[in-house]
Amino acid sequence: MTELAPYAITDPISRGRRHAEPAPEYRNHFQRDRDRIVHSTAFRRLEYKTQVFVNHEGDLFRTRLTHSIEVAQIGRAVARTLRLNEDLTEAIALAHDLGHTPFGHAGQDALNHCMTEFGGFEHNLQSLRVVDVLEEKYAEFVGLNLCFETREGILKHCAVPKAKELGDVAQRFLTKQQPSLEAQLANLADEIAYNNHDIDDGLRAGLLSLDQLRAVEVFRVQHDAVIQRYPGLNERRVIHEVVRRMINQQVTDLIEHSRATLEHSSVKNVDEVRAQAGPLLGFSQAMSAMNLELKRFLRQELYAHYRVYRMSDKAKRILTALFEAFMHDPKLLPPEHAQKAATGEREDGLPGRARAVADYVAGMTDRYAIREYRRLFEPLELT
Ligand code: MG
Repeated sequence: MTELAPYAITDPISRGRRHAEPAPEYRNHFQRDRDRIVHSTAFRRLEYKTQVFVNHEGDLFRTRLTHSIEVAQIGRAVARTLRLNEDLTEAIALAHDLGHTPFGHAGQDALNHCMTEFGGFEHNLQSLRVVDVLEEKYAEFVGLNLCFETREGILKHCAVPKAKELGDVAQRFLTKQQPSLEAQLANLADEIAYNNHDIDDGLRAGLLSLDQLRAVEVFRVQHDAVIQRYPGLNERRVIHEVVRRMINQQVTDLIEHSRATLEHSSVKNVDEVRAQAGPLLGFSQAMSAMNLELKRFLRQELYAHYRVYRMSDKAKRILTALFEAFMHDPKLLPPEHAQKAATGEREDGLPGRARAVADYVAGMTDRYAIREYRRLFEPLELT
């Protein structure tokens, strides 16, 4: 195995786990983290959570689970090339969406709105909460007891007041430091994955057309190349060929640009990575501009498409109704969650109750949320 770069995270320099544990016998610490994430309940639920298209709209669309696997795939490939810690990158990638609500961003917006008076709701913070607190599986600690570097990577953004509450894992938001290169990478791999698979899903769902997409440079260049090289290729294969080339182009750009930046910066270790004014990994200026164009296109043409918007609107109503019903009367909650709401309220008043309700609602899969809505509000549904 190639040796890791001097600025990669390694076991000996890890800041370790909150609850001290002996090192694993046949794995390194970050493999253990990855394995704990894969075995978590929240990870299994990703299969039934929406990325952009509601799960039951079709079996071919990305879910949060397949999205997370794609992020891990891209992240690992780049990590290996740049001699970064592949296991850590994979762990962060697989965990990065664990805190997502049902129904994609619409769900997150709705829950955040419901929680306005009680500290808000943010899926990054929730992902950290899942691995730190909500997974209750191990005899000796709550949460998954992951390494500092994995937790730091999960917490992509954090507002200053919240950072003060969270302590060491959020310290960098107060001191304006950078996260590890592996964390930077997982974030970029996320961006590459969703931009490209949303094009693929959007075309497949019939919400986007090839003609429309040809207005976007990064797509048009690859589309021209494919139809020129393979005249008469059927549309399905053309689309896949274009998307795979786009991913490849973005990954290659990321590797080459980041490698040059790393060399130029001459960072020698992780502390120097952290002390930089900005992230060291990233795309070239030309690629960043093309990605921006693509994102803008997706925002206008796909995420705001009336069929996606209808789904979002419905999702907001479902989650808001669930939150309000449980918040108003926690006795409606299943006993385990009712107990958490009572404990939360004893310790922290109404915000404590609200947080327990938000945890319950955020943990739901799309279909569970729909079922729970029916059980609560439809007169003929059995409870
Ligand atoms: Mg993601």
